[in-house]
Amino acid sequence: MADHVKLFLPGPTEVRAEIRQAQTQPMIGHRSAVFLELFARVQEKLRRVFYTNSRVYVSTSSGTGIWEGASRNCVRDDRKVLHFVQGSFSERWAYVSQSNGKQTTVVDLAWGKAVRPEMVREALRAGGYDALALVHNETSTGVMNPLYEIAEVMKEFPDVFFMVDAVSSAAGVKIEVNKLGIDVLVASSQKCFALPPGLSFAPVSDRVLERAKTIPYRGYYFDFLALEEQLLKNSTPATPAVSLIFALDKQLDGMLAEGLEARFARHAKLAALTRQWAKDSGFELFAEPGYESDTVTTVANTRGVDVPAMQKFVKGRGMQIDGGYGKIKGKTFRIAHMGDATRADFEELFAALNDFLMAPRA
Ligand SMILES: *Cc1c(COP(=O)(O)O)cnc(C)c1O
Repeated sequence: MADHVKLFLPGPTEVRAEIRQAQTQPMIGHRSAVFLELFARVQEKLRRVFYTNSRVYVSTSSGTGIWEGASRNCVRDDRKVLHFVQGSFSERWAYVSQSNGKQTTVVDLAWGKAVRPEMVREALRAGGYDALALVHNETSTGVMNPLYEIAEVMKEFPDVFFMVDAVSSAAGVKIEVNKLGIDVLVASSQKCFALPPGLSFAPVSDRVLERAKTIPYRGYYFDFLALEEQLLKNSTPATPAVSLIFALDKQLDGMLAEGLEARFARHAKLAALTRQWAKDSGFELFAEPGYESDTVTTVANTRGVDVPAMQKFVKGRGMQIDGGYGKIKGKTFRIAHMGDATRADFEELFAALNDFLMAPRA
């Protein structure tokens, strides 16, 4: 058995030993030439991962911080921000906009449903919006929204900024930030990047910075103008998590060596295998058909299994799955196929789950 419990969670995900070890390099000053070179190198690689030729902020915070930054830097006081709510994370981002004093309009969908392009068009037609806040992959329900089709609709509203939470999809699914016209994208280290938690990444468009200049109270830690001023010097306003950036540098090399297309194909393949396992085992999928996520499968517990018992059994075999999130805890369970997981990892997991499901019960 492995020396630790292998994670099949939708964050944090499993981190390879060599990436964990990269964090143990001797500390360097964050204003030193060595750090500035490291930060420049990481920038160049992140731009490739996000298919963008503009900046990618690296924040010492989880993705939630960038949520706050996006809403604060993009939305003016006399204008609104549009949020679609279809699960726990989209609900929380809407709350973050609201708690930053932004005029927040919420379109509520049933959990498990996808945001359709025509819904976006209809909602934006009302006018008065500075931005759309879209969660690409709703990690609670396992729904992946049709980002490319929604991006087409956004072209009909060129004045509305496109803010995308890709926390649980970036680096697992192809997202071409420039081509899609995304103004702010939010990604976290502990999901498909297969890094420890603590960093988030935010590609940001030029026009966001122009907008930010017109907004007086943007806060400080997530003020994009402050981040920009330092980024131009390959630096950060406050002390960054240097150790995590060592790991990031190494992991980006690994991702680019695998090849981004191959990485995305692997995620799609593991997703297909997981969905097939769920159906073959007599479960249904929670997501609306056609919108199942390629990075996390939310299984509807249609067999009424004892989910905590199943989790415990699987943990006995050295693996951890999630027991459902928010109001669908227990009614669902989740298997994440994010990061660096392989087919062999999944065969081991399915074997354990099958042994649990086949075992006679008292
Ligand atoms: C995990 C997650 C978040 C929260 O990100 P943190 O990095 O934990 O702050 C936000 N949105 C989605 C879709 C997520 O999966």
